[in-house]
Amino acid sequence: MSSFTNFAIIDLDAIAHNVAALKKRVGSDVALWAVVKANAYGHGAVPVARAALAAGASRLAVARIREGIELRQAGIDAPILVMGYHLPTEAAAAAAHDLIMTVNDVAFARALDHQARDAGKQLPIHVKVDTGMGRFGVLPEELLGFLEALARLRHLKLEGLWTHFATADEADKDFARRQFAMFRYAAFLARDRFDIPLLHAANSAAILDLPEANLDAVRPGIALYGLYPSPEVSREVALRPALTLVSHVGRVRTLPPGGSVGYGRTFIAREATSVALLPIGYGDGLHRLLSNRGQVLIRGQRAPILGRVSMDNIVVDVSHIPGVQEGDEAVLIGRQGEEAITAEEVAAWAETINYEVTTALLPRVARAYRPSRT
Ligand SMILES: *Cc1c(COP(=O)(O)O)cnc(C)c1O
Repeated sequence: MSSFTNFAIIDLDAIAHNVAALKKRVGSDVALWAVVKANAYGHGAVPVARAALAAGASRLAVARIREGIELRQAGIDAPILVMGYHLPTEAAAAAAHDLIMTVNDVAFARALDHQARDAGKQLPIHVKVDTGMGRFGVLPEELLGFLEALARLRHLKLEGLWTHFATADEADKDFARRQFAMFRYAAFLARDRFDIPLLHAANSAAILDLPEANLDAVRPGIALYGLYPSPEVSREVALRPALTLVSHVGRVRTLPPGGSVGYGRTFIAREATSVALLPIGYGDGLHRLLSNRGQVLIRGQRAPILGRVSMDNIVVDVSHIPGVQEGDEAVLIGRQGEEAITAEEVAAWAETINYEVTTALLPRVARAYRPSRT
């Protein structure tokens, strides 16, 4: 597969399976747009985008213009929606690469309109309605005025309105339902005066738990990667995790009583302890909170991390695992033999969420792709 010490194995067949399972969930009338921002949550934007499109996603969605450009430069010509906030200085790049921008203010809209005019194009745009996320977007009461201003910009063509849920992954869906009702009402008033082909709102959690929010298109991210948005959402759609994180055992040695490991000497052996070096650290994307807390799998057994996670290395306790030697595979996320460490388990050690565990993986970790059958 890969000869590097550290690599993330990405199962593109799992991505294809997850796209198909989500499409089945939402039904054939609803488009699926694959969210591949942040390097496809660490999985690799270009291969994941290709696999998702082949499996039936009709568009891609990213947060940043630069992410859209990366997909274009790889030769991907599917429509790409850019969801994040941008400054007017970035409008030229968006127009040059035919990205479908989310437009949140008149200054950006004007800049994009100028660029589109200069390029002799009319660019589709979407408008985000802030129904309670409180970060960016147009407030419902500002929407009609904003759409009127947009209508005067002849090189932009309003294609969609969208919103984003703050709590769709929580057990109590009350606020999400209120957000959705607010969005529906704002869209209803807007459609009375403007032609707006597409409405969309659903992230993974809403797809799994709030089917009334499917509308014209859904925007799954985390579920594409086979992970559930939180422990509180339905597990009715069977997802397959796509990522396995592997390292290899380096030096194996016996730490004498009183011997210490790592910066700050936060682990000191009470008795002779057999330890293995793994050349992977926070410079690869491991969370430093795994220090003296996380575990890895070696020979199908759990080996606890001793001492601090450093930039390039960790050291694990293998005293209870017979025969460990240099070159043995170590699994940090995924299955080995009968044992498995999930992204959720790592997230608990690192006091974060599964999203951040995979997204944290840095370019220094090689990616190895297992092809999809679609
Ligand atoms: C990231 C993002 C999504 C995908 O969210 P998941 O919880 O990963 O499914 C959808 N919509 C917007 C606007 C986003 O920023």
